[in-house]
Amino acid sequence: MKTPLIFNIVRGSVVDGPGIRTTVFFKGCNLDCPWCHNPEGKSPLPQLAFFKDKCVNCGACSKVCAKGTGKCVLCGACVEVCKTNARKIYGKSMTAEEIAREVKKDKIFYDNCGGGVTFSGGECMLYPEFLAAVSKICKSENISVAIDTAGCVPYESFEKVLPFTDIFLYDIKCITPSLHKKFTGKDNGLILENFERLLKTDKRVIVRVPVIDGFNSDAEEMEKIKDYLSDKHVETEYLKYHDMGESKKAAINFFDSLS
Ligand code: SF4
Ligand code: SF4
Repeated sequence: MKTPLIFNIVRGSVVDGPGIRTTVFFKGCNLDCPWCHNPEGKSPLPQLAFFKDKCVNCGACSKVCAKGTGKCVLCGACVEVCKTNARKIYGKSMTAEEIAREVKKDKIFYDNCGGGVTFSGGECMLYPEFLAAVSKICKSENISVAIDTAGCVPYESFEKVLPFTDIFLYDIKCITPSLHKKFTGKDNGLILENFERLLKTDKRVIVRVPVIDGFNSDAEEMEKIKDYLSDKHVETEYLKYHDMGESKKAAINFFDSLS
C-alpha cells in the first residue's frame, strides 16, 4: 500500500466542508497549479522550510547541524533548537490509526454541527488504499468523511474509497482542456469524466471552483464553467484566490536557491 506523508492536521476548520472539521493534508500532488496555496503539499517527499522573516540570526541551527548547506538529511536537529519557528520540516509519517486518533479528539464538535474529517492535500486520492483504511476507521466511529480532490486519478481509485466516504469536495478549475493543461500540466478529460460518474453515486458532491485572475476569472471561462454545471444540479462554491501560499513557497524553495 502506498502511504502518504502528512504535512498538516488542522482542527476546527470551517472551510473544508460542512460544519466544524478536522482537515488532514496528504503530501504529494499530480497537478502543478501555480496558484496553489499549499505548495508544501506538492512534493510527496519531506522538505525543510526556512521562514526568513522569523529568523533572528541566533546561529543555534548552524551549531547543531552536522551536515551543512546543501547536504541536509532532514534530521530535524535545527528545527528542534530554533526558538522562533523559522525552520520547519513538512512531511510526517503517520499510521491510519494515529490519524484516526487525532481526528477522534473533536468528535463532540462534529456531532453538534454536522462536521467530520476532511482528507485533503496535495492530492489525497493518490493514496486510495491508505485513504480507504483511515476513512474506514473514522466511519466505524460514526465520523463523517469528506474527500477534497482535484479528481485527476483513475476512477478505480474512487471505487476504493466510495464505501467509506460521505462527501466529495470536487475541484473544477476550468472547462477548456488546453487551458487546464497549460496551467496545471494535465488535461481535464479524466477529471470531468470522474466527476460525472461520482454524480451518479449516492454521495454528496460539492464542486469548488477556484477563481484565479489570469486563468479562469474572465467572463468567457466563467461562463463555460457555469454552462457546464447548469444541468448538473450540484452544490457549487466559487473560491476567491488568496496568496497565502507565497510565503510557504519561498520557505520551501529557500535551500534550493542556495544550491
Ligand atoms: S535557530 Fe532559527 S532563529 Fe536561530 S539562526 Fe537558525 S533559523 Fe534563525
Ligand atoms: S534538518 Fe538538515 S539543516 Fe537541519 S540540522 Fe538536520 S541536516 Fe542540518
